[in-house]
Amino acid sequence: MSKRDLYEILGVSRQASADEIKKAYRQLARKYHPDVNRDDPNASEKFKEISEAYEILSDPQKRAAYDRFGHDAFDPTRGAGGFGGGFGGGFGGFDFDDLGTGFGDLFDMIFGTGTSRARQRNRPQRGADREIRMEISFEDALFGVEKDIQISRVEKCEHCQGTGAQPGSEVTTCPTCKGSGQVRTAQSTPFGRFETIRTCSRCNGEGKVIEKPCSKCRGTGQVKKARTISVKIPPGVDTGSRIRLQGEGEQGLRGGPPGDLYITLIVREHPRFKRDGTTLITQVTIDFVQAALGDTVKIDLPGGASHELHIPEGTQPGEVFVVRGKGAPSLHSQRQGDLKVIVQVSIPKKLTKRQKELLSRFHEEEENSSSKGLFGKFRDAMG
Ligand SMILES: [Zn+2]
Ligand SMILES: [Zn+2]
Repeated sequence: MSKRDLYEILGVSRQASADEIKKAYRQLARKYHPDVNRDDPNASEKFKEISEAYEILSDPQKRAAYDRFGHDAFDPTRGAGGFGGGFGGGFGGFDFDDLGTGFGDLFDMIFGTGTSRARQRNRPQRGADREIRMEISFEDALFGVEKDIQISRVEKCEHCQGTGAQPGSEVTTCPTCKGSGQVRTAQSTPFGRFETIRTCSRCNGEGKVIEKPCSKCRGTGQVKKARTISVKIPPGVDTGSRIRLQGEGEQGLRGGPPGDLYITLIVREHPRFKRDGTTLITQVTIDFVQAALGDTVKIDLPGGASHELHIPEGTQPGEVFVVRGKGAPSLHSQRQGDLKVIVQVSIPKKLTKRQKELLSRFHEEEENSSSKGLFGKFRDAMG
């Protein structure tokens, strides 16, 4: 590990304010972040160095200890004079075994070392949540559906019952840490005796040592397994809706509960319908005679049902008819929204001779009636 001056690493003066340190760290972290320096093998080392320097200098207590004792304040192999300087006198005559874990807690409280983290490693840990995407049809989103999906997840290895040890071989208590997962080192310094607590490197804090690793899971106690699970999709879901399947995420560790599985839905488009929340929108094309005289048209709805829409006479192109309760169901109340029908009017491109004659006569008739109307109005206006 590098023993460069922490202030030098961050490029700030020893008098730098907390804000200046934070700013310098951010700039450097951005510059050396391993994600943006994939080709530079030194970047991640550099990034680590910067992060470690910041971890100490951003914490007023740690910074004070560093200012006073330099790197020795954090390196137990060199003697944590920083600790002794403040408290060593008082503890000088004690045997550390008598102090028990209380000493570790105190040490942790003062310097924020990893002792409490090390202790947590032995605790049950909840499995991670997982998220997958799933595409469903427009109709399935409206009416709901039950689907089987295949997912693979990490599960307890059956061969070794999750212990990681080959059946028949032994799992023994770690001789280095005697099963606690932590190693204490006591040292004498001019300020008195002190101790540090670290995660046991022999057992990685597990407190147990496996003599022969399981052949199926290579000692991890976990294997990847494909499973089929049934997913119930309620009516009214839409793109972006998330379904939570409790306990279907990754398995927990050391008996912890599994995480959850989240399914994010993506609804495929429909050729004739659009959807806006609980409103369904469609178009219907009628000819100009239907528009003028009125008619009833059949609209095929998603899912096979149909609706007879009454078109009143004199319907204009682009007119919108709202049919209550024929839209999409609400996911929460299951009440159905509305169906909006936009009317398109088609004008024939080809007419027979007879149709042309009829339309010409229609046109004359309309001019007469409208001029009569106008003339009538004019006469009325003039009294
Ligand atoms: Zn196994
Ligand atoms: Zn151990």
